[in-house]
Amino acid sequence: MLRKPTIATFYNKKQVCFDSIRERSYSQSPLKPYLLMERIHALGLESNFDIHSDFQPFAQEDFHLAHTEEYVNNVFNQQGNYQSNGVPWSENLLESVRYTNSAMYHAIKHSLAQPDQLCFAPVSGMHHATPTAGQGFCTFSGQVIASLKLYDEFGVSGAWLDLDGHYGNSIEDSRYFVPRLNQAIPMDCNVNPSGRNAGYVQNFREKLELVRLRILAGEVHYVVFAHGADSHIDDDLGGQCDTAHWLECSEVFTQWVADVSEEIGKPLPVTLALFGGYRSDDYNIVLHLHLASIERCRALCGEG
Ligand SMILES: [Zn+2]
Repeated sequence: MLRKPTIATFYNKKQVCFDSIRERSYSQSPLKPYLLMERIHALGLESNFDIHSDFQPFAQEDFHLAHTEEYVNNVFNQQGNYQSNGVPWSENLLESVRYTNSAMYHAIKHSLAQPDQLCFAPVSGMHHATPTAGQGFCTFSGQVIASLKLYDEFGVSGAWLDLDGHYGNSIEDSRYFVPRLNQAIPMDCNVNPSGRNAGYVQNFREKLELVRLRILAGEVHYVVFAHGADSHIDDDLGGQCDTAHWLECSEVFTQWVADVSEEIGKPLPVTLALFGGYRSDDYNIVLHLHLASIERCRALCGEG
């Protein structure tokens, strides 16, 4: 059951923040969508990606789904705890997060409409944000907002396979704030593997099995694979897996998607995302890890 040869990629340059990131931000993630797409261009891999850039950014009200009006106002008006995300504020940053959050939502929406195409939102900076504040280079809870919108619009639920090196607290921290999140992202469906190397891969397999049961029960309809590069052992902030085990996770995921798709008799809607990755010595290593993971996932796609 091979999918289309190209990956539907939700990328618009407006989802990149160029202002003050290289010089003043510890996290280079606001630049990462651009750097990754440039890398894809330099390597001559564009033909693998079907770029969708005509989506609209989220409006201020969209963020109220997952955040208090006070926090959203603070970020939009540069007041109060607007710097709680740990990233230098700028008009450019604000515009870029309106686009990254929207890209995440549109990529998943596309995966539901056209499950025979792998989807990709080249975005980061979401999974630590809480209802009342940003945190850990994350401004808004793009995961929570996307899943709530899709649940409200189509009655579908999702699973987030979060292989960033850091626990994605955003979903669990938002359940009290918006109780229907328990339907939009059911229990066991915020997957954050633990352990190191072979233990990490094994833990991922066990957690995937719980998600598989949810899918077979008709309780989960799409998955998002966020293979953060900071779960790589040499990352400045992470370190669960050496290169072989880090890539094995992508292979385990890909085989699992193929198996589950066979079981349900149709392609399981899949979206890829970036999440973390921090290398002060050579940022290209972060980009290459992401590209190597995507390349493993392309095993789901047919040849062009
Ligand atoms: Zn991280």
